[in-house]
Amino acid sequence: MQVIESIAQHAGAMAALRRDLHAHPELRFEETRTADVVAQQLTEWGIPLHRGLGTTGVVGIVHGRDGGACGRALGLRADMDALPMTESNTFAHASRHVGKMHACGHDGHTAMLLAAAQHLAQHRDFDGTVYLIFQPAEEGGGGAREMIKDGLFTLFPMQAVFGMHNWPGMLPGQMAVSPGPVMASSNEFKITVCGKGGHAAMPHTGIDPVPIACQMVLAFQTILTRNKKPVDAGVISVTMVHAGEATNVVPNTCELQGTVRTFSIEVLDLIERRMRQVAEHLCAAHEATCDFQFVRNYPPTINAAPEAAFARQVMESIVGADNVVEQEPTMGAEDFAFMLQAVPGAYCFIANGDGTHRDIGHGGGPCTLHNPSYDFNDALIPLGATYWVRLAQAWLARA
Ligand SMILES: [Zn+2]
Ligand SMILES: [Zn+2]
Repeated sequence: MQVIESIAQHAGAMAALRRDLHAHPELRFEETRTADVVAQQLTEWGIPLHRGLGTTGVVGIVHGRDGGACGRALGLRADMDALPMTESNTFAHASRHVGKMHACGHDGHTAMLLAAAQHLAQHRDFDGTVYLIFQPAEEGGGGAREMIKDGLFTLFPMQAVFGMHNWPGMLPGQMAVSPGPVMASSNEFKITVCGKGGHAAMPHTGIDPVPIACQMVLAFQTILTRNKKPVDAGVISVTMVHAGEATNVVPNTCELQGTVRTFSIEVLDLIERRMRQVAEHLCAAHEATCDFQFVRNYPPTINAAPEAAFARQVMESIVGADNVVEQEPTMGAEDFAFMLQAVPGAYCFIANGDGTHRDIGHGGGPCTLHNPSYDFNDALIPLGATYWVRLAQAWLARA
């Protein structure tokens, strides 16, 4: 493994910084302390910065030896927010705040990008500009979208943007990147079947919304098997069914809520359209009415093929071709998708290992994302930072 020497020298300090962030997790759009830590480090290394995009976002600006005159620029993005959950770990750097935890490793993502920033600022052995994007609110807040709305790509024009997430279970030293869709679109629906309640012993006097909603749940599944192409991926999960308060009362309404996931907008359009038709027509068939609400949260995360291939080459130069694996797309979602809609780039993965890196006092559960026993693997910091630096140098050196 070809880790950059000066980054390896600072590994201890960066691990300590990561553990400090882990002990002080902040929820979406509240990352003020985290942003302060980031800003203080960047300032210490002589990196000018811009604060406030997307509320708490920080953008560091590192010009190369040409002062950025060539006009080429790329963005490297780390997310900073924690999750609203209570940590099971009791080791020294465990969360100080009940109900808040860095269980997705965004503390580590921030540390890896800071470690890269230090090296880039101290060496400036490239032409062009590297924008270091520290983003708030990845966990459900759409912080990437908010930074873009506040002018991320107009204030800081760049030709490519790259993101990275740690991935538990992959062997340490491995990295992964693939072209095309890597994460799904995430969407929510809320459907209210409006019938006519009454005495449960005299159902013929009303319109019972419950059997209509039950038919609807099953009918939705045929959208996946009969309407979309079999080779296209799609998920419809009805996760909440709410109706009634008594065994002898037919309720007025039955409410269904859940999530839809797809790898393309085309399939999403199809599923939303067919769900609405099925819901409204099933209600009409049973003389009920339908309130159909569908909210699109995150679009699919789609890597541009040339940038994904470029990222793979850089990874291979660091960890060797055998250690760069194909990442199977997952139906989870990621708001880096918004950045990739605006600018070409690639979202990649770095192995977090099996959890044996964790200190004594870990919670005993699996070291998986969003698990209360999770901890980021500090051994990744020099490797991830090396990837960021090599990627930036190589990309900016392209003809
Ligand atoms: Zn997460
Ligand atoms: Zn995450």
